[in-house]
Amino acid sequence: MSGVNASTATATTATAEGPGGGHRRPFQDGAGASHTGRFAPSPTGPLHTGSVLAALGSWLDARHHGGRWLVRMEDLDTARVVPGAADAILRTLEALGLEWDGPVDYQSRGQDAYLSALLRLRERGLTFPCSCSRRELAQADTGYPGTCRSGPQRPGPCAERFRVQAGELCVDDRIQGRRRWDLAQLGDVVVRRRDGVFAYQLAVTVDDARQGITHVVRGADLLDSTPWQVELQRALGLPRPQYAHLPVVVDPDGAKLAKSLHALPADLSRPGATLLQVLTLLRQNPPPELAALSPEHILAWAVPKWNPSAIHGLTTLPAPAPKLLA
Ligand SMILES: [Zn+2]
Repeated sequence: MSGVNASTATATTATAEGPGGGHRRPFQDGAGASHTGRFAPSPTGPLHTGSVLAALGSWLDARHHGGRWLVRMEDLDTARVVPGAADAILRTLEALGLEWDGPVDYQSRGQDAYLSALLRLRERGLTFPCSCSRRELAQADTGYPGTCRSGPQRPGPCAERFRVQAGELCVDDRIQGRRRWDLAQLGDVVVRRRDGVFAYQLAVTVDDARQGITHVVRGADLLDSTPWQVELQRALGLPRPQYAHLPVVVDPDGAKLAKSLHALPADLSRPGATLLQVLTLLRQNPPPELAALSPEHILAWAVPKWNPSAIHGLTTLPAPAPKLLA
């Protein structure tokens, strides 16, 4: 895996592989600390074209800037976790040459941090219990209508919501440009579900701070989560990372890749072809002759040339034609 390392400006030492194997680089104190990116998949299935695009985009962005790249498994919702999926995702990253730094992080092991953040919000009067059912909320036009702000409507188990302050929130996204949200319209967001599971918005906010993430690069399907996370950062006194939202790969009918031919797992028998396809989707203009090279050589070409402005303002990309099943 030394080809990747040699191609980046960060490396102060050669790649070393841990005793457990796997393509991870040891933490190098100080090296690239000014830029730390991450890839945070949910272990609910194998990586497909869309998730490989998010992995590659965030990896290239980190390596181009000489930064670190961390992997975090978003496995809080244990009911949705598929056994073996996390390992399959890591094997895919390895096959594609996408080395990560340090140990893989698992959200399911971060409960203490989420609880302490929730308690801090509670102390400041920034959360409230909410008894609304999904069906009741489905009738609301947008966001949360504020039904339980002054108390839950009925006894029994409640979700807990973060009280959003009214006003406009503005984020300069490195790919999507300046984005504005009306916080009142977004509404108060769930930070702990009725079943006791910490909600995504709280967990991701705490994790990004805990892991020292400075640059979040992820799919544009999470663009509208950003204002809640920024508000939670403010409330918890956490730093705000820079955001860059990559376009989401969609089926020809415009729907996010789901259970269709387009969403087939990434082809690990031809990792070079997979990388080249995704680099092409990202409009990085890879020369076709790269296809014959190893992932390491393809990435060595791509790191110095990484140009996110090629996808400026794009929130969706049509999926490439699926290969016919043999
Ligand atoms: Zn409610």
